[in-house]
Amino acid sequence: MPSLLWRRFGRGSATSSWPAVVSPRPDGAQPVFDATRCDLNGACATACPVGAIRVDAAFALDRARCISCRRCIEVCPTHALAPGLTFAEPARTRAELVVPAGDGGMRAAAGRARRVLGRSLHVRHLDAGSCNGCDWEINATTNAVHDIQRFGIDLVASPRHADVLLVTGTMTRNLEIAARRTYDAMSDPRLVVAVGACAASGSPYPEGYASGRGAASILPVDVFVPGCPPRPEAIIQGLLLAVGRLTGPRR
Ligand code: SF4
Ligand code: SF4
Repeated sequence: MPSLLWRRFGRGSATSSWPAVVSPRPDGAQPVFDATRCDLNGACATACPVGAIRVDAAFALDRARCISCRRCIEVCPTHALAPGLTFAEPARTRAELVVPAGDGGMRAAAGRARRVLGRSLHVRHLDAGSCNGCDWEINATTNAVHDIQRFGIDLVASPRHADVLLVTGTMTRNLEIAARRTYDAMSDPRLVVAVGACAASGSPYPEGYASGRGAASILPVDVFVPGCPPRPEAIIQGLLLAVGRLTGPRR
């Protein structure tokens, strides 16, 4: 028994520090853009399988659509695109996720929610047609390493108990009504956080008879968390951003 205790205390705490010091994941990182090297040749836009890059008079990369496949990095002859991001930061608007930076601006209706919800946040997860990659990352936020409960955030089973709706998936047609009803079952003030490329933009699936255009096509999204899938740190960051706590003290 003493040796067990000795080993346990010798190991220290498994929980990561916050703000998160994220280890690089070069194989899954979104590209960084160097405007000084870009000659607008358009090779990246042609190679991108999800239409995340547009090159005409200027270069634009939509991080909400990017699935980190790295094809653009491989084909860029001037090395204007390179691996480097640990993860793409969540944002309050789709425009803020476009590189070079677009216009910001937050939904006025969300201001009250951010004031009222304070330090205790109950989250209902809704899978609206995901591959389950994002859902596993949400699951990981509750483990000992990421420990989302240290922020006063808890996942709940009913939208009636929830302050935030955490949406994953492309918002398939047959889940549109369920998503709307789930949102309607929540009491005010309420927030919506779209997790992953699918929910943030509908990417990588094209809009069709069964798949949709992401959560914002049905719900008033307050925060978009890019990534396919986003890392647990990005999901936690998105929730803290939704309630205006992102710059809070380390705990
Ligand atoms: S999905 Fe992202 S990483 Fe892949 S080619 Fe498009 S912009 Fe580049
Ligand atoms: S964003 Fe990627 S990981 Fe998440 S549900 Fe869509 S395809 Fe799966």
